[in-house]
Amino acid sequence: MTAKVLVRLDRVTRDFTMGEVVVNALKETTLEIFEGELLVILGPSGSGKSTLLNILGGMDQPSSGEMWFGGRDLSRSGDAELTRYRRNEVGFLFQFYNLISDLTARENVELAANLVEHPLPADQILTEVGLADRMDHFPSQLSGGEQQRVSIARAAVKNPRLLLCDEPTGALDYQTGKLILGLLAKVNQEHGRTVIIVTHNTAIAAMAHRTARMRSGRIVETRVNPAPVAPERIEW
Ligand code: ADP
Ligand code: MG
Repeated sequence: MTAKVLVRLDRVTRDFTMGEVVVNALKETTLEIFEGELLVILGPSGSGKSTLLNILGGMDQPSSGEMWFGGRDLSRSGDAELTRYRRNEVGFLFQFYNLISDLTARENVELAANLVEHPLPADQILTEVGLADRMDHFPSQLSGGEQQRVSIARAAVKNPRLLLCDEPTGALDYQTGKLILGLLAKVNQEHGRTVIIVTHNTAIAAMAHRTARMRSGRIVETRVNPAPVAPERIEW
């Protein structure tokens, strides 16, 4: 693992105000994301995992603190720059796939490809995730696992620096979940992409280069995994 920092959070917080109540979803958080690493973020429901991931992906902005990407502090940049970051540098994977239902698998992937200047070939990426013969199917004609593979292709086609996955196996059965994790490991290893997986399934930590544990809006521990395990060999 290289030690080059890709993204750096410096004392980032995120508060949500609901009427008279303020929820401190993310308390002062300092974290470095290293280029090429596979980081697994663990924590119970409500601990702030999605809040952290959304900030890392430029989908949300901190209430205070800084987020550095390259030489830029994105927490101080305007909407246009944040949009550019989200569009060009980040791929997202969600628990419920978030595909566009009236576009085919190929069209979903091409739509993402069209957003960036140097996309990878859509057909090639769909083939890599095992969907060569499903490209012209609509999401409703695909299983959950197949839809999640389309989502991986949609994220990977942009060739993003950072692939952010929020509970990517949360809606899938055991075997399919492991298949998806295997594909994410492949994106990390073969394409050298930085991958962050958020999960409440502690077993998934075994595949990580590094884990971060969250509790009540804080990262309470980060740990390097000296011997990451292939997802096929993980059991839960
Ligand atoms: P996790 O992903 O670990 O389950 P979240 O980051 O989704 O946790 O949420 C952390 C806390 O912030 C929770 O208490 C949640 O209710 C609150 N929260 C998250 N998003 C919002 C929002 N948009 N508005 C208000 N509260 C929110
Ligand atoms: Mg969440």
